[in-house]
Amino acid sequence: MYDIIIVGAGPAGAMAGKYLAESDKKVLLIQKDFSFKKPCGGGLRVDAFDEFSIDKSLIRNLVDVISMETKKRKIEFDISHIPLAIVDRVEFDKALRQDAKDAGAELVETKVVDVEILKDVVEVTTDSNKEKKKYRAKYLVAADGVLSIVRKKLRAESVPKKLTHYSDVSGLITNKCHFYFGTELTDRAYAWRFPYGSGSDVGTFAPINGKKYIHNLFKFLDISSKDEKVKGYNIPQWEKPLFYENRVFYVGDAAGQVLPFTYEGIYYAMKSAKILSEVIVEDVSFLEYEVRWKRLYLKKFRALKHLQKIFLKSDLTIYIMMKTLEKPKVKNKVLLLWMDQYEMKIDLAFIFRTFKRMLT
Ligand SMILES: Cc1cc2nc3c(=O)[nH]c(=O)nc-3n(C[C@H](O)[C@H](O)[C@H](O)COP(=O)(O)OP(=O)(O)OC[C@H]3O[C@@H](n4cnc5c(N)ncnc54)[C@H](O)[C@@H]3O)c2cc1C
Repeated sequence: MYDIIIVGAGPAGAMAGKYLAESDKKVLLIQKDFSFKKPCGGGLRVDAFDEFSIDKSLIRNLVDVISMETKKRKIEFDISHIPLAIVDRVEFDKALRQDAKDAGAELVETKVVDVEILKDVVEVTTDSNKEKKKYRAKYLVAADGVLSIVRKKLRAESVPKKLTHYSDVSGLITNKCHFYFGTELTDRAYAWRFPYGSGSDVGTFAPINGKKYIHNLFKFLDISSKDEKVKGYNIPQWEKPLFYENRVFYVGDAAGQVLPFTYEGIYYAMKSAKILSEVIVEDVSFLEYEVRWKRLYLKKFRALKHLQKIFLKSDLTIYIMMKTLEKPKVKNKVLLLWMDQYEMKIDLAFIFRTFKRMLT
């Protein structure tokens, strides 16, 4: 019998495994495939490496400039004081899992196919090559990503999500993170181009029948779409946050904890895992997980959700957003907001005031 079983060992599960095992909890960490490559741009703020004691040799690129672009406008943000690190998700996730194992978590490679809440315990069924096994624990952490089986089995629901399409394009080299806006290129979000290996990771948010967005993006970037393999992947859309229910904690993508507008999820997956582990180890009320998370992030998540809804609605609102961001004062405040260095209330009020002035 384990204290805690963690389903999924991406950034959320591996971090929870590390912190809980470090505090002498008996932890079983289950990952369905050790060589799984999470479809992801792999971008996270470089200061996260110190915050979570992650080996900096995992950084494949350091990006000093974020560029927001439409067909006609471009605004560049200098982030050289806290650059964006780009990681390879196979290497990154493997290293985090190894850290969890080194801290004392038991790591197994198998797929969870069922979850049941029994009296005072949680039972997980795994399946490896048709060999089924059952494991029991006092508590379960659902860290199994956007397609969470735990959420499906226990709540008969899936994580609210948005569809992305992306491709790794070799030869298209960039040292910036580009975010493209416009209703021809993306569906109420952004299209992107991030450095990836000896090329770029190029993608967009588009619905299932949204081939035109990819076609337009590739045309805009002068890439031959015939040569590129484009695949669709889901990303959580932050709506109703889910934290704890009946011996089960939800964390990372399984909890829907991806920042609206920017769609950053790696940092928030690890941070939530840390908050959750502290609550479990301190043996305080489990409601504290939600309370502490909300104290830190609710305003930010809500603010960015509103801003996304307002600014990314149409080409006119995107134009106004770009014009607003051209103002150095606004630009600076947005950067501070993103860096968690600004009081949210003042910040939002300021942005809304400027937006209103632009409209009138
Ligand atoms: C195209 C795309 C680009 C993105 N780019 C960025 C970016 O640049 N920066 C950023 O911060 N975020 C980005 N994200 C979001 C980010 O990838 C996720 O938010 C982050 O990976 C969440 O971590 P997690 O540990 O919660 O989930 P995941 O990373 O999805 O990990 C879940 C793990 O659970 C395992 N698992 C699932 N089901 C089972 C099962 N039944 N049994 C056992 N194991 C199971 C999976 O194999 C996986 O390893 C992107 C997402 C997409 C789709």
